[in-house]
Amino acid sequence: MTLFSAQEAAKATVKEAADIVEVIGEHVALKKTGTRYTGLCPFHGEKTPSFSVNPQGQFYYCFGCGASGDVFSFVMQFHHLDFPEALKQLAAKYRIELPERQLSEAEQARLRLREQLYAVHEAAAQCYEQTLVDTRLGAQAREYLRQRGVPDEAISHYRLGFAPDPAAAGWDYLARNLCGQGFAAELLLQAGLVLSGKRGGHYDRFRSRVLFPLEDMSGRITAFGGRILGEGQPKYMNSPESLIFSKSRQLFGLYPHREAIRTTRRVLVVEGNFDLLLLAVHGIDNVVAPLGTALSREHVHSLKKYCDEVVLLFDADAAGLKAAMRSIPFFLEEALDGLVALLPKGHDPDSFVREQGRTAIDSLVDGALPLAEFVLGNLIGEHGLTLDGKGRIVEELKPLIQAATKREQRELMVSHFAAKLGVSASYFNSGKTGPVPSAPPTDPGPTTVAPLQTLGRQEKQLFDFLLFWPEYCGPLQEAGLIEVVRSPALRRMLELMEAHGAATASQPEYLLAAPLEPEERAYVIARLMQPAPLAAGGPDTTPQLMFDQLLVWVRQQRQRQNAASLQQQLQEAEQAGDNKRVWELLRIKQQGKKQRGDPSP
Ligand SMILES: [Zn+2]
Repeated sequence: MTLFSAQEAAKATVKEAADIVEVIGEHVALKKTGTRYTGLCPFHGEKTPSFSVNPQGQFYYCFGCGASGDVFSFVMQFHHLDFPEALKQLAAKYRIELPERQLSEAEQARLRLREQLYAVHEAAAQCYEQTLVDTRLGAQAREYLRQRGVPDEAISHYRLGFAPDPAAAGWDYLARNLCGQGFAAELLLQAGLVLSGKRGGHYDRFRSRVLFPLEDMSGRITAFGGRILGEGQPKYMNSPESLIFSKSRQLFGLYPHREAIRTTRRVLVVEGNFDLLLLAVHGIDNVVAPLGTALSREHVHSLKKYCDEVVLLFDADAAGLKAAMRSIPFFLEEALDGLVALLPKGHDPDSFVREQGRTAIDSLVDGALPLAEFVLGNLIGEHGLTLDGKGRIVEELKPLIQAATKREQRELMVSHFAAKLGVSASYFNSGKTGPVPSAPPTDPGPTTVAPLQTLGRQEKQLFDFLLFWPEYCGPLQEAGLIEVVRSPALRRMLELMEAHGAATASQPEYLLAAPLEPEERAYVIARLMQPAPLAAGGPDTTPQLMFDQLLVWVRQQRQRQNAASLQQQLQEAEQAGDNKRVWELLRIKQQGKKQRGDPSP
C-alpha cells in the first residue's frame, strides 16, 4: 500500500467514525427537529436557528449564510484549519492512527522556508526589543515612548522594539546581529528585513524606528510595523509581503486582543498602532489596526469570527471617510454590523483618550452610527439636498454600490439610499447624471442571476415543485420536460434534480450538496426558506396532484411545439410548391387534432 492510498484510507476511516452531530454538537446547541438537528449558526450572527445538520447525509447547511459541507469542512471552517489539520484533529478525537503524509520536494522546501521566516522574525524581534529596553542606543526611543504615555508594561506586553539610528549603530545593525546568530543573509532578504546595497552587501530596512511586531493567529511574528522617531518620511513603514505576511489579511492587535474582542462581541478599528496602544493602556483592549491600508474584505471576514459589531473609530478627516465608504460592501457580504464613531476635530484616538479618558471613548462608541447612515449623512452635509446636491450624492454613491459583488446587496443599497434621499431607485441606474462605473470583473450579476430569477410563472412553479419533490423529475422528463423548458439555468437544475430524484428520500436541501454557482445557491436557499408549494387546488392538494397538473402542462407545451413546427413545415412546403408534401403535412395535422379530440376543422 502506498502512502497516498493509506492517507486516503485514513480519511475514509475518519469520516466513517466521526459523527457530524456529535462533532458540531460540541460547539453548537443542537435540537432534534424531525430527522434533522437545528441550532444557531456558528458562522453568522443570528437569533433564530437556520443552521441544520443532517445525520443521514452527514452534512450541514445554513439557510442564513449558505455555509455547508461535511464533518471535515465544519472543523476547518470552525477552527480555521486546513484540511490536513482538520483530519488530524478528528483522527485524534476518534483515536484513528494517521500515516505520515509524504510531502513533495517543493512542499517541503516551502514549509522549511516558512519555519525559517518565523524563526528570523522572532530573532529580529528579540534583537529590536533588547535594543530598546537594554541599550544606550535605545535611550532616545525610550524617552519618546515615555513622552507618548506608553508605560513599560505595554512595551513588554506588545514586545515593542527599536531599530537604532544608522549614524550610531551602522547601516547593518540588524543584519550583523542576525548573521552573527547564523541566519543567512539571503533569508533576511526574503523576510524583507534587509535590502541589497548597490555595491553589494545588505543594509537594514528599519532604521531610527520604534517597531511593532505583528503576530499571526498562532502568535508567531510575521512582520513589523515601524514608526519613525521624530520627524522624517515615511512616518510609518511596514514589512513587505512575504510567504508568511499579507497586509490585507493581518491586523495589528487581533492576536493579543482576540479574547477581549470575543468577550465583548465588538471590535474597534483605529488607524494607527499608537492609537491602539494608547487605548489599550487606558483599558480598552478590543481594538485592532490595519497596517496602513483600508479595511479589506479579508480583514472583515476574519473579524467576523470574533465579533458581531465593528466600530471604525476615525479622525474627522476625509481620508477616513473614503476608507469607511470602501468597506461598506464587505460588511454587507459578511452580514456584519459596521459602525462609525467620529472623533472631535483635531483629535485622534491616541490624543482623545489621553485627554478625556476611557469613558469619553466609551460614550463615543455607544453613539456610533451605522456605516451607510454615516456615509450618507456626510455626503448630505457636503452637497446639500437640493436637486443638484442629490445628483452629486447619487454619483458618489454609485461606485460604492457597484463595489458590492452580489446583486441583492446592490439592490438593498439602492433601495435604502433612494428612500433616504427621496429619489427613484432608477436614478442610481441611469447614466444621465454621469458615467456609471463598470462592475468589477468578478461580478456574477445578470449573467448568472437573471436566468433563474427571471423564470416565467410556469417554469418557476416547475422549479419549486421539483425542488421539494425531485422524485417526480424522472416521469416529467419522460413526458418531454427538457424540450419545453427554455431557461438554460433551469435545464441545468433539472439535470441536478433528476440525478438526485431517485436517490434521495425527499430532503429539499439535497440540491445544496450539488456544485452550484453562488447565485444559484442563493436562489435555492431563498426558495427553501419558504414553505413547499401548493397546487392550484389549495392546501389539501398532494404532490401527486401537482405532478398531474404539471404533466398536463408539459404535454400541452409539447403539442403546441409540435403544432408550431408542423405549421412551419407546411408554410415551407407551400412556398416551395411541393403539393405532395403539403397534403401529407395536412393529413398529419388532421390526425393530431382527432387524437386530441379537437372538433374544429
Ligand atoms: Zn449561517
